[in-house]
Amino acid sequence: MSEDAPGSGRQLPPFHCPYCGDEDLTPHGDSPDAWRCGACLRAFTVRLIATGVTQ
Ligand SMILES: [Zn+2]
Repeated sequence: MSEDAPGSGRQLPPFHCPYCGDEDLTPHGDSPDAWRCGACLRAFTVRLIATGVTQ
């Protein structure tokens, strides 16, 4: 019973660092949703919690 959305295999980077607002984001480590900000050197994850389908 799988409900994988099409095209969900590739994670796009967030547009801006949520901490300093910089756009210099690069993948961090092995996690596909982990990113590192080149400006403030913070690493963080972006997690999908909804797909836009309202209930
Ligand atoms: Zn930053």
